[in-house]
Amino acid sequence: MSTFSTHNFSGQKALVRVDFNVPLDENFNITDDTRMSATIPTIKKILADGGKVILMSHFGRPKGGPEDKYSLKHLVKHLYALLNPAGTPEDKTTNVFFADDCIGEQAHITANMLRNGEVLLLENLRFYKEEEKGDEAFAEKLSKLGDVYVNDAFGTAHRAHASTAVIAKFFPADKKMFGLLMEGEVVSAEKVLHQAEKPFTAIIGGAKVSDKILIIENLLQRATDIIIGGGMAYTFLKARGGKIGGSLCEDDRLQTALDILAKAKEKNVSIHLPEDSVIADKFAADANTDVRPSDAIPDGWMGLDIGPKAVGIFSEVIRNSKTILWNGPMGVFEMEKFQNGTKSVALAVADATAAGAFSLVGGGDSVAAVNQFHLADKVSYVSTGGGAMLEYFEGKVLPGIAAIKD
Ligand code: AMP
Repeated sequence: MSTFSTHNFSGQKALVRVDFNVPLDENFNITDDTRMSATIPTIKKILADGGKVILMSHFGRPKGGPEDKYSLKHLVKHLYALLNPAGTPEDKTTNVFFADDCIGEQAHITANMLRNGEVLLLENLRFYKEEEKGDEAFAEKLSKLGDVYVNDAFGTAHRAHASTAVIAKFFPADKKMFGLLMEGEVVSAEKVLHQAEKPFTAIIGGAKVSDKILIIENLLQRATDIIIGGGMAYTFLKARGGKIGGSLCEDDRLQTALDILAKAKEKNVSIHLPEDSVIADKFAADANTDVRPSDAIPDGWMGLDIGPKAVGIFSEVIRNSKTILWNGPMGVFEMEKFQNGTKSVALAVADATAAGAFSLVGGGDSVAAVNQFHLADKVSYVSTGGGAMLEYFEGKVLPGIAAIKD
């Protein structure tokens, strides 16, 4: 494995796996370009060295053949704009080309015609079903397009696809590496999982226990404190004998919840459940609300946020932590009446970070929450990795990481 920042790409064709799977509206306008803009620093570093960039990505879920609506050609204009912001002098513009196939003659000819400082975007990898199958021959064909392989698509690192993992075997150790975005994700995730300074608090929330069992079990080996909030807390509270009214509950997971609580005791990990809850008489923004102990919720009411006592206790634990991992909201933060818990936890994470803790926020809804409360730049790292980050924290080996490191 080589290091991206110290590699000199001058004169080299860098084959870069990116995640350009951005949402489009019905007129092919990009509605959120985060995934594209996040990888621009990687592209710019290669270009600044005097290298050539060949980008490959998946896009949507085509059925295994070309489909216009899943063509990456719709992204070329925006890629050009990102690489050439308004005011870029004419002699400094970056040319962006498109090849309407990711393998084959045209892809090869265009790749070989690239001059230093130019960019080529290849057509959607998933127009070939071989991509998701991790087909070796397909991976080898792709590998022939570049001198160096750069993986900057952490969001697909948990898949053993041709372009995310298998392809790496066709490059020697000093010609395969993580891009800047992927490197940031890997370094941050490793810091939390393998080099965590204690106290290490994991904050786990969201709707379902079943989605988070593996992550909690892995964290029981590593964290000192686990805060459990959101809808999933009520399965634990009911398992302990509490009355939870109409709150979210997975009755088939009550025993799992008890097993987790028992294991935590055995391992000396403190599990913090919300002492009180903001309860509502319906799941709606205009519901009537009240505050009750989380294990004494009347019938006809449901817990939709953690209450003020829980906020106080959780915030104290967080502020005393040196390492923090946050996945999942504390309540239905999309509705104003139930956002205080999530917002307060976000503020406590920001305070702890300001006091020197390392904090990583990962997983769709907690990322949306820190963005909503404008706190993304007050935490150490916001992961865009989604499912890949979750699998990493479940303790799984991610093929995209292993392929580069081994
Ligand atoms: P997840 O995707 O599992 O992280 O769950 C996130 C979703 O859980 C968000 O849309 C929240 O609105 C929802 N959620 C959080 N707390 C509760 C709760 N107490 N009751 C119902 N839904 C909740």
